[in-house]
Amino acid sequence: MSILNTPFNTPYNSAPFSKIKTTDFLPAFKLAIQNSKKNIEDITSNTEVPNFKNTVEALEFSSLILERISNLFFNLNAAETNQAIQKIAQQVSPLLTAFSNDISLNKALFKRIKYVYKQKEKINLSVEQNTLLEKKYKSFVRNGANLKSSDQSKLREIDKELSSLRLTFGEHLLSETNRFRLEIEDRSDLEGLPENCIETAKILAKKEGKRGWLFTLDYPSYVPFMTYAKNRALRKKMALAFGKKGFQNDAFDNQLLLLKIVKLRHQRARLLGYKTHADYVLEERMAKSPETVLSFLEDFKSKAMPAARREFSELSKFAKELDGIETLQKWDSAYYSEKLKKRCFDIDDNLLKPYFELENVLEGAFKIAEKLFQIQFVKINDVETYHSDVVVYKVSDLKGEFAALFYADFFPRPGKRAGAWMTSFKPQHRVDGVEERPHVSIVCNFTKPTKNQPSLLTFSELTTLFHEFGHALHGMLAKTNYPSLSGTNVPWDFVELPSQFMENWCYEKQALQLFA
Ligand SMILES: [Zn+2]
Repeated sequence: MSILNTPFNTPYNSAPFSKIKTTDFLPAFKLAIQNSKKNIEDITSNTEVPNFKNTVEALEFSSLILERISNLFFNLNAAETNQAIQKIAQQVSPLLTAFSNDISLNKALFKRIKYVYKQKEKINLSVEQNTLLEKKYKSFVRNGANLKSSDQSKLREIDKELSSLRLTFGEHLLSETNRFRLEIEDRSDLEGLPENCIETAKILAKKEGKRGWLFTLDYPSYVPFMTYAKNRALRKKMALAFGKKGFQNDAFDNQLLLLKIVKLRHQRARLLGYKTHADYVLEERMAKSPETVLSFLEDFKSKAMPAARREFSELSKFAKELDGIETLQKWDSAYYSEKLKKRCFDIDDNLLKPYFELENVLEGAFKIAEKLFQIQFVKINDVETYHSDVVVYKVSDLKGEFAALFYADFFPRPGKRAGAWMTSFKPQHRVDGVEERPHVSIVCNFTKPTKNQPSLLTFSELTTLFHEFGHALHGMLAKTNYPSLSGTNVPWDFVELPSQFMENWCYEKQALQLFA
């Protein structure tokens, strides 16, 4: 048995990355699924009358080890993947889908859940317990528990196919990002680009054994290039490469996958009695219905459109005046917006960067969290990470009580997908009253420090960091009993509130003075 299926016995029960081999995952998943199935059998074979504790709560805690392995594995697949991991993901995803279908189509289990659900007015449940019961019952119904058995098998087939399609879609995107390189050998093609960006491109070229400078479709390389490179033909080349990812009619093409996914989602929704996939999704959101979403968007459009048109024509006029551009293209907007901003307000994003040194910004974010939520962050070295770039902090309340582990993974690598996100290796929860504190992580793609320069953030990277940190706080400050309700497990149209709340500090003088 691998370490994945046993207690970790590490500081804070953190993941022992150095002891986990990639080949451990598949057998570990299989064993954990088997054990979870056993736990579920114990629930359905229980001769006692179903109640909240012996059914709903027992189900909630039936797969803790499996969830731990899943968190670990899929976090690695997003932040530090390779072909071996991707292959396992392809093998594991159908197993997990089949397992979750085994639960949601388990008649005996659903019967017990339904029995408790029908009593819910009579039994005395806390708000949290009631929410868990609602969610569990709904998850059965939304996965076909009330369907006849021929339709249930149809649903299983759709779900299996969907899970493998989604994975392939993401893998294609990553391969497409990695295979494009803009090689520059003539220094004049770098005109307009800031020094640090040129230096990063030179380092990358060296690393890949190329002469000159190399630009990629990763955001820290792509965005500055589109914002500052004077050479319009090269901007066009980059923009087209970026927009063509997955649309090149070859082995990494995503067009057909996308169409299949949309069709399957529609079939699935219809099978369950919903009008569209949107109706199905929105049932569990605060917005509730497509009508609410559409009317919000319409309202938004009518208010924003006049301003957008005004700005676009202003920008077109400016580009024509400056460089004789006849029709403003997609690859021009970032470049001329930056120039126009500079002319109107004398603001240069790049001049702001020295004020946002990553280390200081992070300390600032910690200070704000300390003021607002009475927690402290201390960098520690006794917790293992999956890559040497990842840094771990111990989070405690002001009395010194352990609150969370916070992992920060900031720089791009070939095995990391683009963008920025928060995730967790372990959610907060309580088992039999024993508090389990969360292990939360944020993963970003900021400019890596070089020998001569620390990592400097643009203003938009600054807001990204605060945004993800907001999600992280949501996870780290959680105080619930049940892991599936903990932290960021809230309706998706609420989940962005803590992150946007934190973003706002980037516009407050008092906050900026703490780190900029
Ligand atoms: Zn977010």
